Amino acid sequence: MSADPIARLTVLFARLPGVGEKTAQRLAFHVLKSPPEYARDLAAALLALRDEVRLCSTCCNLTAQDPCPVCKDQQRDRRIICVVESVPDLLAVERTREFRGLYHVLHGALSPLDGVGPDQLKIKELLPRISAGVEEVIVATDPTVEGEATALYLTRLLKPLGVRVTRIAQGVPMGGDLEYADQVTLARALQGRREM
Ligand SMILES: [Zn+2]
Repeated sequence: MSADPIARLTVLFARLPGVGEKTAQRLAFHVLKSPPEYARDLAAALLALRDEVRLCSTCCNLTAQDPCPVCKDQQRDRRIICVVESVPDLLAVERTREFRGLYHVLHGALSPLDGVGPDQLKIKELLPRISAGVEEVIVATDPTVEGEATALYLTRLLKPLGVRVTRIAQGVPMGGDLEYADQVTLARALQGRREM
């Protein structure tokens, strides 16, 4: 790696998704021109990201405090768990303000061709959460082949435990990602969920 700090930062910025060489250079110069505390705050925030963020031991959300703020919030409806593939998907469901239950983040979807089986997902962490208090599990995996396969797998696993399993409606286009669905579409998909 280059000894020149500008070139070094440019190379690192250019590794970020969606950032090209030119933008990376512009960002590096921007940091250089900003007040010194900005660079210090940026560096500290980057370090904290790696040192402090971990998985919530209950729902597998990413958090700096365990349990995460969602799990800790006593106002939330503990009878419903919404299962999502990723943390951005969780945030998308939160933005709809349509859901006030708890979450479970799988960190992926079943994809045998890519070597992703049930053991690679946070499924064994979900099972102990299905206790007497939980009445419904909403499976809000993406409407993709992998997301549908995951929904089917979870249904077969959870239904025998005596819990109601529902799937969000097909408002989100097939092949799409929950994260990018607009709030109204996602809110409707939640409202129109069906029995599995
Ligand atoms: Zn949590």
